[in-house]
Amino acid sequence: MNHAEPLVRFSGVQKTYDGEQLVVRALDLDIQRGEFLSLLGPSGSGKTTTLMMLAGFESPTAGDILLDGKQITRTPPHKRNFGMVFQNYALFPHLTVGQNVAYPLTVRKVPKAEQADRVKKALDMVRLTGMADRLPARLSGGQQQRVALARALVFNPQLVLMDEPLGALDKQLREHMQIELKELHRQLGVTFVYVTHDQGEALTMSDRVAVFNEGVIQQLADVEALYETPSNRFVAGFVGDSTVITGTLQGSGTACALQLPDGQRLPG
Ligand code: ADP
Repeated sequence: MNHAEPLVRFSGVQKTYDGEQLVVRALDLDIQRGEFLSLLGPSGSGKTTTLMMLAGFESPTAGDILLDGKQITRTPPHKRNFGMVFQNYALFPHLTVGQNVAYPLTVRKVPKAEQADRVKKALDMVRLTGMADRLPARLSGGQQQRVALARALVFNPQLVLMDEPLGALDKQLREHMQIELKELHRQLGVTFVYVTHDQGEALTMSDRVAVFNEGVIQQLADVEALYETPSNRFVAGFVGDSTVITGTLQGSGTACALQLPDGQRLPG
């Protein structure tokens, strides 16, 4: 593996659903190993379509997608081995938290003893220690979303794809989870690709942000550069109107306190 090359490369990728209108146009995008990249843009700008092509649920109409320099453009989702968390990525209601998290390991025929060990580690990671025997219905929305996250991380994927995973949570919990996700990313060093239409969310968590509009990446840059040197008026307007949260997690375990939120408004 050549570590100088990006983990993922989109090269000239296009997508049309109806054979006419391109919803993703000539997309060139490199995703670096270990980064937290957000795909940010208004509704209908092509973010989810881009993520679905990366996941393998949609095929590009033209162009190539490479993983570690190898073609995966037509590789089916289960062979890509990516972790995924979506807004309504339902847990199995009749399975316990532990069984839900173990599911990807069961599918991969991982031995039972190893499953137990990995499930415990994944639950510790998302601060749900001791919750393995509960049913999902007995958890809060934020806890359920953490179970989905543990399930996405339990098989050590090299890439975790998330599509508006916090969209169903109330504002306070959403902001709390943003800090948690950012911290988890820092600890794990796994590559995260995160779709959102919420500027504050993208700017709070990401190393880099790709700003989409009408199927085109308008700018791909780190947060500071998006503010200081927006590439056009769309980026300046869209990014400028946002609230970024700063904060840190304190303590450990499920009773951890969040030093937050201190909604900080950055200059637009
Ligand atoms: P975003 O995630 O930025 O909201 P999407 O990628 O979901 O954007 O959608 C981009 C465009 O593609 C929209 O106009 C949407 O209506 C259209 N689209 C998305 N999915 C489908 C589909 N399965 N069939 C037809 N059109 C679709």
